[in-house]
Amino acid sequence: MTPPEITRRDFLRTAGLGISCAACGVPLPAMAEEDGRFVREAQFYDKQPHKKIKCKLCPRECLIDDRERGYCGVRENRGGTYYTLVHSRIAAAHIDPIEKKPFFHFRPGALAFSLATAGCNVNCKFCQNWEISQVRPEQVHSDYVPPRNVAEMARNRGCGAIAYTYSEPVIFLEYVLDCAEAGHALGVPSAVVTNAYIQQTPLKQLCGRVDAIKVDLKSFTQGYYRDVVNGELKPVLDAMVTMRKLGMWVEIVFLVIPTLNDGDAEFRDLARWIRQNLGTDVPVHFTRFYPEYLLKNLPPTPLATLERAKAIADGEGLHFVYLGNVPGHPAESTYCPKCRKPVVERAGFAVIHNYLKQGRCPGCQTPIAGKWT
Ligand code: SF4
Repeated sequence: MTPPEITRRDFLRTAGLGISCAACGVPLPAMAEEDGRFVREAQFYDKQPHKKIKCKLCPRECLIDDRERGYCGVRENRGGTYYTLVHSRIAAAHIDPIEKKPFFHFRPGALAFSLATAGCNVNCKFCQNWEISQVRPEQVHSDYVPPRNVAEMARNRGCGAIAYTYSEPVIFLEYVLDCAEAGHALGVPSAVVTNAYIQQTPLKQLCGRVDAIKVDLKSFTQGYYRDVVNGELKPVLDAMVTMRKLGMWVEIVFLVIPTLNDGDAEFRDLARWIRQNLGTDVPVHFTRFYPEYLLKNLPPTPLATLERAKAIADGEGLHFVYLGNVPGHPAESTYCPKCRKPVVERAGFAVIHNYLKQGRCPGCQTPIAGKWT
């Protein structure tokens, strides 16, 4: 009698090792009985011969064998069909000021119902949330929270937005799209905090569904993306151009890390590119680095470095250049680009005064770019 076929997953389970990571081959911990509520067919992939699939969600384009996962660890090939394992699977949720994301020109003073699943499609050496971003879904506690419940919790707790943040929303995109739809049905908009390492087709769907995007632009050099992020710069730049072409409200954060991305030339190249490709009204937040994760050997960013970055970007004509992680600094506030009067005063993540009148400077009536209500 022919013995029943044993799959690799069955073997690993029998051996007490669970499934292994397709990217690095490391065995994952033994899984508890799977909760099927988290498992949905993925939206963005192509079927390939021999039950393989090619993921078309992010530029990494993982080619995945049957019973294996992609680099991000949250998507799995089962018999030639690709599944997300993190739909409605929240690993972190908090209510934060929207300024903490940071969004400075999107609903100032609002609370954001902020959520994340496990997983990420890059591996930044400075990640602050590596405990959830660099693990597989089975390795962290998660709760089942379907989109309707997310929208209701946001509305019932007085939140002015749902924010997808902490890890990387690209890798739980199906859940983002469904939550955004549920949020809109209850009058709650959605704001995404992303590395923008995403292919154009899913990006266009995202832009059609959410209300604002904050991009963590890690650097303006491909070498940094290769060595510090394990990603690529060009697809990120292309994604930002598409976002703006589609009319999306976009803000950019640039974490300035001593010795790695803190040169004048990089600041200047970045500011010029933004001016020429995205427009001078896109806010840029130069943010202070604190030693974290795999970069504990570097010091915090000196304030003088951040101020130098701002001076260069201001000089290139960008209208809204902020400094982040420097509570109390005047560059946390918004100033009218024409008359230079303060229009939104902030301290840390708090809005102290919002002087805007229907999105205009109260002094000279200049419209201030943003989605203010
Ligand atoms: S989202 Fe990116 S990292 Fe994850 S499986 Fe798809 S291509 Fe790979």
